[in-house]
Amino acid sequence: METQKTFTYRIRFHGRGGQGAKVASRILGTAAFLGGLYAQDFPLYGAERRGAPILACTRISSEPILERGVINNPDIIIIMDETLLDDTAANPLSDLKKGGIVFINSTHTPEEIKTKYHLTEQTITLDITKISLELLGKPILSTLAGGVASKITNVGENFLRQAVEMEVSEIIQDKEIIEKNIKAALHCFLSTPSVKIDMMEIVYRNNPVISVPFEPATISSPTVNSVANTPLRKTGNWRVFKPVWNYDACTKCMICVNRCPDSCISINEEGFPFTDYNNCKGCMICMEECPSKAIEKKREVHAW
Ligand code: SF4
Ligand code: SF4
Repeated sequence: METQKTFTYRIRFHGRGGQGAKVASRILGTAAFLGGLYAQDFPLYGAERRGAPILACTRISSEPILERGVINNPDIIIIMDETLLDDTAANPLSDLKKGGIVFINSTHTPEEIKTKYHLTEQTITLDITKISLELLGKPILSTLAGGVASKITNVGENFLRQAVEMEVSEIIQDKEIIEKNIKAALHCFLSTPSVKIDMMEIVYRNNPVISVPFEPATISSPTVNSVANTPLRKTGNWRVFKPVWNYDACTKCMICVNRCPDSCISINEEGFPFTDYNNCKGCMICMEECPSKAIEKKREVHAW
């Protein structure tokens, strides 16, 4: 990709608590910094719980960055969980800059996504959850999304490698896990197609200090601030795995019913347990606790 002489890229990561959006934004910022650019990265949390929508922002620039605050009108949006596309509170695509680029962690093609969500901007998809399960054994997407974002913004592979090593080492000391994360990030870097970024001109115009408007709580914590939303929040829509019961093996001991942290397992007329998939988060505690191995873990794929 041809890089402009002076540029500022504003990248917004959307994910769910526990997926690693904050670390992804940090990996991109660190990789850009190591590559000699100016960088800024920070997370924005709403509800502090696993699965809640969160966002993180990274600015990278050839010039000192004077902007502060949450990124509105991003040049690039990285969506780490495609169920957020249907989340009216998170609404991650709402203010994508015209000519911008969207990456979506999805099993669907860019054309399918563009048709469904009426997107006209450049769209890239890659099933990084699958890659994560294969290479890391867990659906933790931080280093993988960092790899994707580094490719889109043209941050070099070597700087990405160093950034992953630095950032993951702060959390985990196990060298094998760090190496696996480097491998996963580079895999995603190489699997992401090169894109042409042609709309991100330098923005310092006449006034070098850009004033950031007051940020309403509906932006920083949309889920918490939506009125009377509890019954409407289908918290099961973002799970990676779903439990599936095998009634031939089930002894009706009720252990799974009692251990489900979300109380979403009920009993059917024949006395067998079943879950409310609208609210099951896929923690798989029921499977771990079942003494009869009557619950199986199946990968959930967002389908329409
Ligand atoms: S996966 Fe977790 S939330 Fe879902 S039914 Fe099992 S224990 Fe409950
Ligand atoms: S813990 Fe296992 S055996 Fe017991 S009720 Fe649940 S599925 Fe059936």
